[in-house]
Amino acid sequence: MNNKDTSTDVILIGAGVMSATLGTLLKEISPHTDITIFEKLDQPAKESSNAWNNAGTGHSALCELNYTPENPDGSIDITKALNINEQFQLSKQFWSYLVNNGLIEQPEDFIRSVPHMSWVRGEDDVDFLKKRYEALVENPLFDDMEFTDEMEELREWLPLMMKNRIQTEPLAATRVDTGTDMNFGALSEKLFQYLAKQNVNLNYEHTVLDLKRTQEGAWEVKVQNNQDETIEYHTAKHVFIGAGGGALPLLQKTGIPESKQLGGFPVSGVFLACDNQDVVKDHHAKVYGKAAVGAPPMSVPHLDTRVIDGKETLLFGPFAGFSPKFLKTGSNMDLINSVKPNNALTMVLSGAKNLSLTKYLIEQLAMSKEEQMEDLRAFVPTAETEDWDVVTAGQRVQVIKDTETEKGKLQFGSEVVTSEDGSISALLGASPGASVAIELMIDIVRDCFPEEFKEWEPKIKEMIPTYGKNLSENPDLLKDVHKTTAEALRLTK
Ligand SMILES: Cc1cc2nc3c(=O)[nH]c(=O)nc-3n(C[C@H](O)[C@H](O)[C@H](O)COP(=O)(O)OP(=O)(O)OC[C@H]3O[C@@H](n4cnc5c(N)ncnc54)[C@H](O)[C@@H]3O)c2cc1C
Repeated sequence: MNNKDTSTDVILIGAGVMSATLGTLLKEISPHTDITIFEKLDQPAKESSNAWNNAGTGHSALCELNYTPENPDGSIDITKALNINEQFQLSKQFWSYLVNNGLIEQPEDFIRSVPHMSWVRGEDDVDFLKKRYEALVENPLFDDMEFTDEMEELREWLPLMMKNRIQTEPLAATRVDTGTDMNFGALSEKLFQYLAKQNVNLNYEHTVLDLKRTQEGAWEVKVQNNQDETIEYHTAKHVFIGAGGGALPLLQKTGIPESKQLGGFPVSGVFLACDNQDVVKDHHAKVYGKAAVGAPPMSVPHLDTRVIDGKETLLFGPFAGFSPKFLKTGSNMDLINSVKPNNALTMVLSGAKNLSLTKYLIEQLAMSKEEQMEDLRAFVPTAETEDWDVVTAGQRVQVIKDTETEKGKLQFGSEVVTSEDGSISALLGASPGASVAIELMIDIVRDCFPEEFKEWEPKIKEMIPTYGKNLSENPDLLKDVHKTTAEALRLTK
């Protein structure tokens, strides 16, 4: 042991929104837990959680059409939409608790009201949107959703998108004024500032290289201090791998059975960004369209009002692409290095099944800025090339795994992997990730600390009063949640 080596209760790897959320949750429910955090970069939230690297949508299925697929009989399946909306209500309550209790301040730095709209063209998609609206509006979670296919109203809702539009086909939109724009980077920074005050041992410029189980059943974490390149060894009874795209390689190093037959498929992305205020002032919404046929759900085009670094900006995209890196700051060898004897078949089968996806991503990657502008002009006919800059978004690593029914299945959501004894957990995948972080982290705490969880549950319910309750079936409670969270988070329509 050198004098920097430590032993602690919990080690969190990575300083993104997931570790920030788990650390804060643990400090609230069990203040005496010793926590150490290792982050390879020199600041928190510089990878996926950074505002420029994700779309900042407070995912609650108000506008994302991929959460409401069409059944073969033409009806709309709203199961996923209900689930994600319920999860986002938990997130809002958790953040409200943090603000109301002075743990973090100025919620407008990380959450703002921005209407969420879906917008479609053509008879089939207009039919789909109408059916989706009718299926959702019956539910209290979506009862403030509006639908229109009237040109006058569309012009009012979407002035920038309707300006100089030559109408050749039916158009329709839905609108919910209680949608949100999130800055997960600002939220993470606030949480790490709070954690630093709680004596959490925060180590930037420390890269985790390896993890080994000790004879006592704890974990020894090998860490490189990037400033002087020395190697340190730290042990903990519990480890959370919140390393974003870097989580899969670290999980593989643990050798736990749950890490086998598991792979990752990296997807890169770019946005077009506009901060010309003459353009920005005419759009105030997050407007999600419908993905092109054959396109993956993460490439649904959307035109979003964002507030980043105090400035209102429009972001369009993300255009998906292929890059072998697992992190923006990763290596071109990440994908190759993640192929192991135990997941080679899983990866090969997934590759064979998803050739059209790979082709789609390579085509997207090859798009010139002018071709991207053409896609944007479907949304904003008057868009001028000089007003829009290309911004590289974060890397997503979609999970590939063997399920009971399918080998090499490509997953598009967020996945938690926990060892059977609950000593180690990892968070893989992407959206709705950050929006539903608190529910994911509570699940981890429940699985990793089953005994203590019973004792901690009342505090969780104090922080998140509707935890464990179904809000779709409790409209009065839902109204109360909307009111109290809007007040705490200063959400004004
Ligand atoms: C293009 C795009 C759009 C998205 N849009 C949305 C959206 O609209 N709404 C939404 O809710 N979610 C969205 N997401 C998903 C969301 O960004 C993620 O779910 C979330 O940021 C993941 O947080 P994290 O803490 O797990 O990872 P990250 O924020 O990536 O943090 C991981 C950290 O771990 C560090 N790290 C990695 N390896 C190591 C190592 N070996 N040692 C030490 N540190 C390490 C990294 O440097 C990084 O700081 C989007 C993602 C992308 C890429």
